[in-house]
Amino acid sequence: MFRPLEDRLAALTHRRHCVVTGRGASAIWLTLEAFKDARPDRTRVVLPVTLCTSPAAVTHHAGLVPVFCDTDPASGNLCPAALERLLETRRDVLCVLAAHLYGEPADMVRIAEICTRFDVFLIEDAAQSLGAGGVGQHGDVTILSFGHTKIIDAGGGGAALTCDAGLDARLRETEFRLGPKPREAARWAADYRTTYYGAQTEWDGNPAAKRRVGEICKLHPGLYLHRLDEAQAGLILTALDALPAEVDRRRERAKAYDEAFRGIGRPLQRSPDGVPWRYGLMLPPAHRDAAVEALRAAGIDASCWYPRLAPFFGDEGDFPGGEAIEAGVVNLWVDDRADDARIAHSAALVRDVLTGAGTNGIKSQDSGT
Ligand SMILES: *Cc1c(COP(=O)(O)O)cnc(C)c1O
Repeated sequence: MFRPLEDRLAALTHRRHCVVTGRGASAIWLTLEAFKDARPDRTRVVLPVTLCTSPAAVTHHAGLVPVFCDTDPASGNLCPAALERLLETRRDVLCVLAAHLYGEPADMVRIAEICTRFDVFLIEDAAQSLGAGGVGQHGDVTILSFGHTKIIDAGGGGAALTCDAGLDARLRETEFRLGPKPREAARWAADYRTTYYGAQTEWDGNPAAKRRVGEICKLHPGLYLHRLDEAQAGLILTALDALPAEVDRRRERAKAYDEAFRGIGRPLQRSPDGVPWRYGLMLPPAHRDAAVEALRAAGIDASCWYPRLAPFFGDEGDFPGGEAIEAGVVNLWVDDRADDARIAHSAALVRDVLTGAGTNGIKSQDSGT
């Protein structure tokens, strides 16, 4: 019954096979289960340290263990050199997950070459980059998401796509193990948010606060693992018609931000193939929180995705790239609310924070080039 949607997504990503799921996270889990069947001796999943928690959650729910790899502070994407160093020291890695974070394509050519050389599977996580150029050309399986805040938001939905008939067969077999979305899912999601935002108020001085977030991810597999429902499949199909226009609009909005924020901070890397998930900006860490507060006080949503994922799962290792992103990033919306007036207002508010902060603020403007 999902065939028309699956065919459409396969065509969009130039993959031969597609299995749709209730979430992007469910699709990652299916993929991990399929890889596990092929390499039961391997137990580790390499994740970029700059990422949301759900890929780490489903790694746990697949009975595997995440290992974190540093990210490039210019883009937030997996750093190929760090990946190479990591794989040189480990023989227990089942697969690497590389996300096109913020809609910006990761360096998949290099990452795929490294994964082939070290004989590990590669997941291309395109959850934030639907409609970006080149998606589907590298890696064993491509993941999509139609969840909250994604390029197409159908309130949920995901897909796993591959060109490998053997993997496709295993994905389909495993898909039978997924049930419908549990009725408790909304409550579990609310509990997660409460824990997350509660922990955030104290995690700067208290590593245990971050670990609470990791622990709640492990409580309810059903929050992450379920089937797509038919109404959402219909919504996704309809929304796909408008995807090219949506991609154009997001790219235009990002350019408008570039203009308005010229000389204020540094935009995250964007290439022509990318599709901005949000507008990503790096600010001097000393002023970042004040800038976000000023935006929010004016009723403008701003977020700081993503803090490093490793400490949530008990890994206190050194990740300088991920730390730089965590300390400086601000994400601003590129949806319909981000009209020219709001973008200009946002830039003025942030500029005031940076310049109003004295010589440090003035110096920080120099980093905008
Ligand atoms: C949202 C997201 C996921 C998970 O997708 P859901 O549909 O929310 O389960 C995975 N990876 C990345 C990079 C995401 O942004």
